Amino acid sequence: MKIDKCLDTLIVGAGFAGMYILHKQMSEGFKVEIFEQADDVGGTWYWNKYPGARCDIESMDYSYSFSEDLQQEWNWKEKYGTQPELLEYAKFVCKKFGLRKNINFNTKIIKSKFSKEKQKWIVTTDKQKVIECEHLILATGNLSTPNTPKIPGLNNYKGNIYHTGAWPGKMPDFNGRKVGIIGTGSSAVQSIPIISNTAEKLIVFQRTPNFSLPARHRDLPKDKREEYKKNYKKYRQLAKNSSFGIAKYQPPTQSTFEVSDEERNVIYEKAWQEGGQAMLFAFTDLLIDEKANETAAEFVRNKIRKIVNDKETAEKLCPKNHPIGTKRLCLDSNYFETYNKKNVSLIDISNEPIEKITEKGLFTNNIEYSFDDLVFATGFDAMTGAVNAIEILNDEDVSLKSKWSDGPKTYLGMMVSNFPNLFMITGPQSPGVKSQMILSIEQHVDFIHNLIIHKKDNKYRKVNANSVNQDKWVNHNNEVANATLYPLAHSWYNGDNIVGKSKGFMPYVGGVANYKKICDEKVSNNYEGFEFS
Ligand code: FAD
Ligand code: NAP
Repeated sequence: MKIDKCLDTLIVGAGFAGMYILHKQMSEGFKVEIFEQADDVGGTWYWNKYPGARCDIESMDYSYSFSEDLQQEWNWKEKYGTQPELLEYAKFVCKKFGLRKNINFNTKIIKSKFSKEKQKWIVTTDKQKVIECEHLILATGNLSTPNTPKIPGLNNYKGNIYHTGAWPGKMPDFNGRKVGIIGTGSSAVQSIPIISNTAEKLIVFQRTPNFSLPARHRDLPKDKREEYKKNYKKYRQLAKNSSFGIAKYQPPTQSTFEVSDEERNVIYEKAWQEGGQAMLFAFTDLLIDEKANETAAEFVRNKIRKIVNDKETAEKLCPKNHPIGTKRLCLDSNYFETYNKKNVSLIDISNEPIEKITEKGLFTNNIEYSFDDLVFATGFDAMTGAVNAIEILNDEDVSLKSKWSDGPKTYLGMMVSNFPNLFMITGPQSPGVKSQMILSIEQHVDFIHNLIIHKKDNKYRKVNANSVNQDKWVNHNNEVANATLYPLAHSWYNGDNIVGKSKGFMPYVGGVANYKKICDEKVSNNYEGFEFS
């Protein structure tokens, strides 16, 4: 086989994870390159250009912390970074650290096989180029494989079709048009209010109502930004010590029923007015005790009932089939208010799934709805979709996909037993998606980079995750998750959103501080669970 290039490290993906590990490995003198299917950096913020797309963790938190220079140089304009601003930031980082020359754009990795003779990965691109590398790092993203449900008749639709997770670069003009949107998750909650501003008619098809709290979005005042910058060290440390990697959400100290109903209402009201996810951090037991959780859930339902004028619509929008916070909580700007607009209607498809898509729209319960444009806000094949899309074979020709057919198993969310020198950043069973993700990305990258250096310094060719340690880690993850309410929801956290996908709770919910402590202990114990040879 002709080898077109030899590298120390090949990275797949040029989002925040790929860019940071590229920077680390370049700084250490490794021969390293990224392969990225898009034509620019940014990952999530390159693909999700839908109206209203922005992060829902405040920008001063949702940003890299590895470079003090970068922290001081970049000025966030708004409380929550918008998609264009986040994409600009990614490009800025790419330029500042001279990364672009080591990135191959418009190139998809389709296959990778660990060669027994060479003890290296042989990687194939969609352009049939073959690259040999010692380390293969998957920075392929947890929310990077858009899910378009296989609804009969999709190909017959004559209007425009969009997916929030693969939005075109040029913003479509919905002015005066009839638009249908399927889905009411975070992407829909952000885009529905904006689309409704120009569309002549917007029809929302909702299968499951979602809890959403007000973001209370605003510009970021200069004095607040400067104060944060001056004290960045303190804020970043607070984030690292927290459960979910957000400085201002420190672990609560009192439980739900320690306070009277009146006091609890005052606390929830304050959190509601403040905006963001504060409410979920009000009491210690909200995510472990159903009765406690119900107090917060009912508080939010009552808010929805107050905001939405039409009683029937309000009730349809009230989530009742899962505890609050067990599906990814949404933050919104006027989401529920949007249903008071004359040009917006809500169709509840919980009991009447969409039967088929037609030339002009879709059928549900024998009623045809027509529109000019159809938006899929139907989410992603999360956490395993992008990894499984690459054919990854170990030296015994066993595929990673087949290993994961009953659900993913990893060691610390970073390696898979019997797939040596293959690393993933924020993989399944890591706290990644249950945290401020850039914080988790930085922690994983530092860990993997140091592991590679340790391997190199000790002249090892291979590092592999021990299968017993992997099983213990997976069991620990399940135990932690099963002690919470998370498994009660049907969500992308447990594969429920994809027909035919194996079911099981995938993220580590023990918190970022605990997770880092565990990782640090493994290193102190001479990289416990990692076998070098
Ligand atoms: P990604 O940004 O997904 O990048 C992965 C890259 O890999 C992509 O560019 C993809 O094209 C590329 N790739 C994948 N497979 C291949 C292949 N086979 N060959 C070549 N290239 C490939 N997180 C938060 O913490 N806070 C938020 O507020 C937040 N908001 C979000 C909003 C949206 C709309 C979405 C979708 C996600 C959000 N997230 C948020 C999660 C977000 O994905 C992470 O914060 C972060 O951007 C992930 O970075 P990443 O580099 O790991 O992955
Ligand atoms: P999502 O949360 O998975 O929501 C998908 C929506 O589509 C759900 O309402 C789902 O209904 C519906 N759906 C899926 N298949 C369907 C079908 N066949 N028929 C009818 N409805 C169907 O996806 P998302 O909104 O893109 O968000 C994914 C994740 O990305 C978020 O959880 C979050 O982590 C991140 N994100 C963050 C932000 C932010 O504010 N920062 C914004 C967007 C995304 P069911 O619930 O019934 O399955």
